[in-house]
Amino acid sequence: MRQVTAYLGVGANEGDREANIHSALERLGSVPGVRVLRVSTLRPSEFMGQGPAQAEFLNGVAEVATTLPAAALLAVCKQLELAAGRDLSGPPNHPRPLDLDLLLYGEEQIDSADLVVPHPRLWDRPFVVEPLRELGVDPDQLSRPETLRVVRHAEELVRCCSAWWVEGLSVGFVPTMGALHAGHESLLEMARRECDRVLASIFVNPLQFGPSEDFDAYPRDLDEDLRICEQRGVDVVFAPAVTDMYPEGFCSNVAVGDEAQTMEGAVRDGHFEGVATVVARLFALARPHRAYFGRKDAQQVAVLRRMNQDLGFPTKVVECPIVREDDGLALSSRNVYLSAEDRAASLVLYRSLTAARAAFAAGERDRDRLLAVAREVLASEPRAALDYLELRREGDLAELPPGQISSGRMLIAAKFVGGKQPVRLLDNLSLDERNEPPVGAVADLESAP
Ligand code: AMP
Repeated sequence: MRQVTAYLGVGANEGDREANIHSALERLGSVPGVRVLRVSTLRPSEFMGQGPAQAEFLNGVAEVATTLPAAALLAVCKQLELAAGRDLSGPPNHPRPLDLDLLLYGEEQIDSADLVVPHPRLWDRPFVVEPLRELGVDPDQLSRPETLRVVRHAEELVRCCSAWWVEGLSVGFVPTMGALHAGHESLLEMARRECDRVLASIFVNPLQFGPSEDFDAYPRDLDEDLRICEQRGVDVVFAPAVTDMYPEGFCSNVAVGDEAQTMEGAVRDGHFEGVATVVARLFALARPHRAYFGRKDAQQVAVLRRMNQDLGFPTKVVECPIVREDDGLALSSRNVYLSAEDRAASLVLYRSLTAARAAFAAGERDRDRLLAVAREVLASEPRAALDYLELRREGDLAELPPGQISSGRMLIAAKFVGGKQPVRLLDNLSLDERNEPPVGAVADLESAP
């Protein structure tokens, strides 16, 4: 039987960390077909994930000789994690009594839906690199695996995500229409930090564009998008053709409620039905644990939270902060179509929102007077054709009655027509600056309730 030398990352940040690791390695050594040859020094390392601070980890690397196939060795590791009390169904990035990662399996390059070896993030983790070096393995000499897998067909996506579920891996999903920018990247980064596997979709969804809208002209650059996804550590990109997303005969659409008929819904007839339908289909295919959406499209998040709750998907909707240019313009795939003059004029959106916020900070609490402050700033820019300006309740964006308010979110949409094609821009801001990171700040994650 062929014997292979494999390397396992070992770690713990809960309970008696050292005892957990040693007893797991002892049990590992007693599994038929596995011998533990050497173990590096166990070294403390700070928690690197997202979310509330966690106890320090103890990490190291074990060198094993094994006659087990890689998948079987991985299954043994998962069993040991469970036996140590790790809750694989719990939220990602929670404290763990034991973490075992298959880093290297001989010289093999494995790229299946459920196992990628060498471990794709090995090189980014000092708590893996240093112990490997201690055991005489130089990570710089290893060839990095091609990590990004592009899936075109729905059935393949289901197979891939089902395999992740069976293994107990948490799946983070970032739905996009491509033309990726730093806003999308922030969602990918959050998903990467919080989840074991990251799935992104790139699909310009015809159902959410009206007949006179920019579906054909929507920017598309799949090669560049794939490069960004690879760089951000995405595991799988789902990039279906329209006929794969909506096979012939597809006719079941998700209806959305009255709130979705205002603001964007009022200007873009059928838009949110199209968004809810595509996201429901993607959730059904991938069944992600967590799905990441940008607050830039705050109404979209509210509609999708409702849809997610009503239809009962096993997914947590995570809302991520707006990423802006340094001057305040919210990033959008459509910004590339702004003429130079409109680009300069577009700053009026953020300026009007921050003017309302400043008035709120100065004590103004009347809904309509706060709206008037923002409207006055908007009126100073003739290039901006306002679609709507609203002050809504935080979270579900329900309408606020006139009169005194104690909090709220202001939302704007405006059109700029000076470029090659008209560009509609959206923006929104909380009246309370504590609800938002400042422009340029590293975005903090805020989870949906
Ligand atoms: P899109 O490709 O425009 O459908 O956007 C895909 C996701 O990225 C949505 O959840 C958007 O809200 C999010 N997104 C777009 N622009 C930004 C931004 N500037 N900051 C944060 N998220 C964004």
